[in-house]
Amino acid sequence: MIVILLGAPGSGKGTQSERLTAALDLVHISSGDLFRDHLGRGTPLGELARTYMDAGALVPDEVTIRMIADRLDRPDVHGKGRVLFDGFPRTVAQADALDALLGEIGAGNVGAAVFIDVSETTVVERMAGRGRSDDNPDVIRTRLAAFRRDTEPVIGFYRAQGKLVAVDGEGTVDDVFERIMAGLVACE
Ligand code: ADP
Repeated sequence: MIVILLGAPGSGKGTQSERLTAALDLVHISSGDLFRDHLGRGTPLGELARTYMDAGALVPDEVTIRMIADRLDRPDVHGKGRVLFDGFPRTVAQADALDALLGEIGAGNVGAAVFIDVSETTVVERMAGRGRSDDNPDVIRTRLAAFRRDTEPVIGFYRAQGKLVAVDGEGTVDDVFERIMAGLVACE
C-alpha cells in the first residue's frame, strides 16, 4: 500500500501523517523532515536545501528525487511497499520519478493520493501559530505560491488516474482523520 498525502503548507499533512501511519502500519516518509534532518546534521545536501527552504522555494527536483531514492533504498521500505509519502511528490516531475522508483524497487504502484483541502485563510492562521523559521509572512506567501504553481498540477495528475481522495481539511484533527479513512476505504 502506497499512499500520498497532498496539501498546502499548513494544511495538516504532518499531523494526519502520524495518525495514518499508525492506523495503517505504513512507513512515514516526509521530504520536509528529511531535509530538516540533513540541515540539523549539517550535510552538504542540508546546506543546499537550506537556501531554498529559507526562501520558501522548492528544492530542485533532481536533489529532492535523489534524497527520496536514497530513503527508499533502506531496508524498512525496500521491496515492502508500505509507505506514506508526506510532502512528496510536490511537482509532476517528482510524481513521474516516484512511479519509476517504485517500479525499480518492486514496491507496487501508488494506491491513493489524499488531498487535504483547506482555505488559504486557515493555512495562514495555522502557520502564524507554529513558529517554524520558514513560517514568517513573506516566506508563507512564497510557499503558497509554489503550492499553487507546482503542486496543484500534481493533484490533477492523480485525479486523472482515478487515485485522488479529496477531503475537507477544515475542522478538528479527528474529523479530518475520519474523512481520510472513509475516503481511502471508498477508493479501494
Ligand atoms: P510545508 O508543507 O508546511 O511547507 P514541509 O516540511 O513539507 O512543510 O516542507 C518545508 C520546505 O521543504 C518546503 O518549503 C521546501 O523548501 C522543502 N521541500 C519539502 N518537500 C519538498 C519537495 N518534495 N520538493 C521540493 N522541496 C521540498
